Amino acid sequence: MKASYICPHCKGVINADNNIILSARTKNNNVGLVLLHEEIGNYSSICSDSIKVKKKEIVDFFCPICHESLNVKEDENFAKYLRIDENLEESCIIISREYGDRITFRVDKNKQIDTYGEKLSRFINPEWFLKCID
Ligand SMILES: [Zn+2]
Repeated sequence: MKASYICPHCKGVINADNNIILSARTKNNNVGLVLLHEEIGNYSSICSDSIKVKKKEIVDFFCPICHESLNVKEDENFAKYLRIDENLEESCIIISREYGDRITFRVDKNKQIDTYGEKLSRFINPEWFLKCID
């Protein structure tokens, strides 16, 4: 079985084929779908034609199923969702909300934090990372 990506609110599965599907809104109220490659650390993405995102722009992310916000309350730079891997191990994936930013964190059940991407020195694993997963 492949990994599933899950909305933390409704527990709906938000990935299909090789993409995680998120609903997105820009500051100018452009709305659309953003498809992120499901492989952690692969930053290829696809946006629906309705949404034009500028580099460096901060995007609001929502669950495409229940429309709850996926933005992290503790830090406006991030959004999060859950991942259940092929061994049914659950982890929390934290992504940057800034378009073009290549930063991902994964926090597993044992509070182990894995980091992926670039420019990681800006963030030093704040306390709230550990509260992402019970
Ligand atoms: Zn949801």
